[in-house]
Amino acid sequence: MMTGYLLARAGVDVVVLEKHADFNRDFRGDTIHPSTLDLLHELGLLDEFLKLPHQEMAQLSGIFNGHLAPMADFSRLPTHCKFIAFMPQWDFLNFFAAKAKGFPSFGLHMQHQVIDLIFDQERVAGVRVKAPDGERDFHADLVIGADGRHAITHTRAGFEIQELGVPIDALWMHISKREGDPEQLFGFFCHGKLLVLINRETYYQAGFVIPKGGIETIKQRGLRALHRDIVALAPFLRDRIAELDDWSKIKLLTVQINRLRRWYREGLLCIGDSAHAMSPAGGVGINLALQDAVATANLLAAKLKAGPVSVADLRLVQKRREWPTRVIQAMQVFIHRRVVTGRESRSSDSLPILLKLLQWFPAFRSLPARLIGVGPRPEHIRSPVAHGN
Ligand SMILES: Cc1cc2nc3c(=O)[nH]c(=O)nc-3n(C[C@H](O)[C@H](O)[C@H](O)COP(=O)(O)OP(=O)(O)OC[C@H]3O[C@@H](n4cnc5c(N)ncnc54)[C@H](O)[C@@H]3O)c2cc1C
Repeated sequence: MMTGYLLARAGVDVVVLEKHADFNRDFRGDTIHPSTLDLLHELGLLDEFLKLPHQEMAQLSGIFNGHLAPMADFSRLPTHCKFIAFMPQWDFLNFFAAKAKGFPSFGLHMQHQVIDLIFDQERVAGVRVKAPDGERDFHADLVIGADGRHAITHTRAGFEIQELGVPIDALWMHISKREGDPEQLFGFFCHGKLLVLINRETYYQAGFVIPKGGIETIKQRGLRALHRDIVALAPFLRDRIAELDDWSKIKLLTVQINRLRRWYREGLLCIGDSAHAMSPAGGVGINLALQDAVATANLLAAKLKAGPVSVADLRLVQKRREWPTRVIQAMQVFIHRRVVTGRESRSSDSLPILLKLLQWFPAFRSLPARLIGVGPRPEHIRSPVAHGN
């Protein structure tokens, strides 16, 4: 959506295809990072955007083995907004969709599921789509695969995927919110168990981390055992945990970290999770995907306006975005090994040394804030604006 918005703003003919009928999905996370808020500021959209319902979080804290652990302080970031905005991602996407529809060269087709790539010899020349009225072909100078971690684009293109290995999956569920609940707490860790609560005003979007492939064992132990595990982490949920009275209310989200060796071939570029699937650890995947979108528009918009782009042009996008991806994925692997499932978090009742340092030296909290809130090599809007847009 962001790439589509920026390319249409530059006057490029764009069609965005979305397989669902709306953007109301729970699985993506709700974080709008300070770097994204900077992009909105650069586009002149920030004030209007911040009128949408959201919560602002300037500090990120968790409860770790029973201790309050401050983890990140966004208040000293060199950004326009010094907080993470929490907003359901469908509101963010609907906002950009409405703005993009104002550009004459933009088209959005909902319920259009890409089912295959169309090839012209070795070149990707478009996509085949399953739409409500049957199958259709869309031909294009460039297909941008922004179709997430189960992407059909990278599969059909035959791209080689490098798996980094993740020891966790996540159970994803709604738990109601009541007056007096803590507002600013985000994560509850205890001896290798982790519960994340995203505040959605009337309910929490709750994520409970489980060992990879462990869902069957958890089901065998039964719902009551799961209730007990959750309440042990966040006792204030005791009075409503029975709401989770059926497994249909609990979704399993498989977590992956991987990246393509090559993000492109003639006529196709993959970005976001399609190029590099991110885990929820650190809440950074959305930021990285948006930064890819901005870099893509910065590097390709003017060229696409004139016609097809070359493989060398597409290589530039990977060259620009691969290093930030590697840094952030290394951070996620570290979090999985040391903080979430590591020996340190299982064996002791005290805070791991890294969190102790953050507690003792508040200035250090700017470092995780920088990694989460901005990320390495932040992008800025450099793509052109077409006359009249
Ligand atoms: C459980 C979980 C929680 C997470 N929480 C956070 C968080 O709090 N903060 C954060 O920053 N990151 C989080 N992440 C990571 C984050 O969700 C991703 O990194 C981010 O959403 C990637 O954005 P994207 O646009 O590349 O892909 P996606 O957000 O996955 O979007 C892909 C889009 O393409 C559509 N699509 C897919 N296939 C097709 C097709 N064949 N045809 C047409 N449309 C298609 C999908 O419907 C979807 O709208 C989380 C990940 C998981 C697994």
